[in-house]
Amino acid sequence: MSGDKNKIFKSTCCYCGVGCGVNVTLEKNKTITVQGDKDHPVNHGMLCSKGLNLQYTVNDKSDRLLYPQMRYNKNMPLQRVSWDDALNRTAAVFKTFIDKYGPNSVAFYASGQCLTEEYYVINKLIKGFIGSNNIDTNSRLCMSSAVTAYKMALGEDSVPICYDDIELANCFFITGANPAWCHPILWRRVEAHKAANPDIKIIVTDPRVTDSCSLADLHLQINPGTDVTLNHAIGRALIEAGNIDSEFIANHTEGFDAYQQKVFERTLKESAQICGITISEIELAATYIGEAKGFLSMWTMGLNQSSIGVNKNLSLINLNLITGHIGKPGSGPFSLTGQPNAMGGREVGGLANLLPAHRDLSNEQHRLEVQKFWGGTTISGKTGLTATEMFEALHDGRLKAIWILCTNPLTSLPNARFAEEALKRAKFVVIQEITDKAETLAYADVILPAAAWTEKEGTMTNSERRISHLNKIIDAPGEALPDAEIICRFAKKMGYKGFEYNSMEDIYKEHAKLTYRTSINIHGLDYKQIDKSNTVQWPFNKRSESGTKRLFTNHLFYTSSKRAIIHSPSDQLNSELPDEDFPFILTTGRVRDHWHTMSKTGKVSKLKQHIKDAFMEINPADADFLSIEDNQVIVVRSRRGEVQVKAKISATIKQGVVFLPMHWGKILGSDLNRANNITSTIVDPLSKEPDFKYCAVNVEKF
Ligand code: SF4
Repeated sequence: MSGDKNKIFKSTCCYCGVGCGVNVTLEKNKTITVQGDKDHPVNHGMLCSKGLNLQYTVNDKSDRLLYPQMRYNKNMPLQRVSWDDALNRTAAVFKTFIDKYGPNSVAFYASGQCLTEEYYVINKLIKGFIGSNNIDTNSRLCMSSAVTAYKMALGEDSVPICYDDIELANCFFITGANPAWCHPILWRRVEAHKAANPDIKIIVTDPRVTDSCSLADLHLQINPGTDVTLNHAIGRALIEAGNIDSEFIANHTEGFDAYQQKVFERTLKESAQICGITISEIELAATYIGEAKGFLSMWTMGLNQSSIGVNKNLSLINLNLITGHIGKPGSGPFSLTGQPNAMGGREVGGLANLLPAHRDLSNEQHRLEVQKFWGGTTISGKTGLTATEMFEALHDGRLKAIWILCTNPLTSLPNARFAEEALKRAKFVVIQEITDKAETLAYADVILPAAAWTEKEGTMTNSERRISHLNKIIDAPGEALPDAEIICRFAKKMGYKGFEYNSMEDIYKEHAKLTYRTSINIHGLDYKQIDKSNTVQWPFNKRSESGTKRLFTNHLFYTSSKRAIIHSPSDQLNSELPDEDFPFILTTGRVRDHWHTMSKTGKVSKLKQHIKDAFMEINPADADFLSIEDNQVIVVRSRRGEVQVKAKISATIKQGVVFLPMHWGKILGSDLNRANNITSTIVDPLSKEPDFKYCAVNVEKF
């Protein structure tokens, strides 16, 4: 806490991965107000519309779950019970399934909004004590393609840049992202930099004309799914113009010869045709990149959420590698994290295929290290079920019990009707939630009320590896408890030793200890040190109190050869292609003022003003052909279901492509406007991230 007398506490915005610092004032009537933290290195006092309205989501308790509830069998109604009753029964059911069907019969599905301490104890519980790797989070829907590509290209899941590189870059390649709406405070910094330096070049690649395009020197309005072809074509143009860093390639990378061969497989003319742009646009992008002294590539879901998400990421990282733009000021590949603490989850190994501190689940030595540290059971080398696999396994009966916390998969998972059916078939469902509006509650056998942002303490890590300490400021309503405390209480009910923490900081210190001698080292870091430096970027050591701004400045990468790997990915798309019955390509995304499934932003009337209802964007030529009027209710169908929303006719979207926002579901409206009724179940084969940006649909008047 800073300024105890006036009750102002430091915290971090709980929405996106930008990680803006906020000052939270506790008023005498126990409500809070929120302002941007002027001393914070990320936002310097600025907040976007979502951050500015944070207090309303906290002060409005009308939808909060206040006490545990349980039903004794599927035919009985839920009833109020004590924490002990709820957790005793849950432990008894989990033990029964584990004894009868083995540890892989249970699973935890968590969230990129969990605090690091929460991730840590869930991961420790299932991997280190239950003996299964069935822990995945909604980060699988968000960043897993970037994680896999970083690991393949740089040796580990390590974002090399810092936000201060924005002001040092003179070329930005923003692709598959709309930061003007989705990462607004970083975008304010790009805007200010461009205003002060009009000569810097901004390239935006997107099938839609978004707000981010308003700042672009070049908008590449490519056909959906053609990113790898475009990136390879830019790579070819850079090589042909001699605009590559041959010394860096020779001394610090491997794989360039195969890459050169790959990118020369297509002529620029052929690539331009595939992408639906011109040769001169490709050449201009290559010129901007090739002439830059500092080159930042920025991307998010447009690349990650794809059947070839990893290939898209690799092809983009290649542009930084062949130009030597990594590990130096103003340069590097920069994945824009969707959620506030997806990075913290990756640090503790909180996904089905990870171990803490970037250790490798398939490495026996790494498993033994963690196992010895935790002192629990044998850690399995078998990758656990990923997000979509968990629901498939519930559907076909392989998985008996699921514990869902801090996420609302019935709006956010692809093919949501399948996920509904999976939860209906589950033998036992535990929902750990803050709101009584979550769609998952209808399927719960046990409901556990959780504390929300400002009601609990912990840490988060943003997109530039910056760790923030979030204070507990107010008490949670009713009997709601911090998520980590719920998990620890449950672990003790299961009879496991090692969950007797006295504070959240004890959990953090244990996590920090486990990072010793790894590339993300934060050994010795505690809340006091984070508070002293305001925030800390990993890796940290006591000589550099605020951590490390930039990685790979010595050009030694985390691969076994210490060289970065230039991969030669295929541009072959594995998505559901349009055909006669389903002739349009559907892509999904965000709107400016809402967050995920709107369980928080949906409570704020100001945030509902910007865009009130779900809609489908369609090009005027397509609307004319289908005789659709603006604002007319239409039906969008895929092979999996349908959506009914109003049409928004706009020349900002390419002909043959339609767009649906991903936020709407039962929380605000009806499940008929839920985009994920129709999205594809195809996932990237390596990252297992779903293909939210491409599936075949048809459109007709209602
Ligand atoms: Fe919060 Fe992101 Fe907005 Fe910053 S940019 S205020 S972190 S939602």
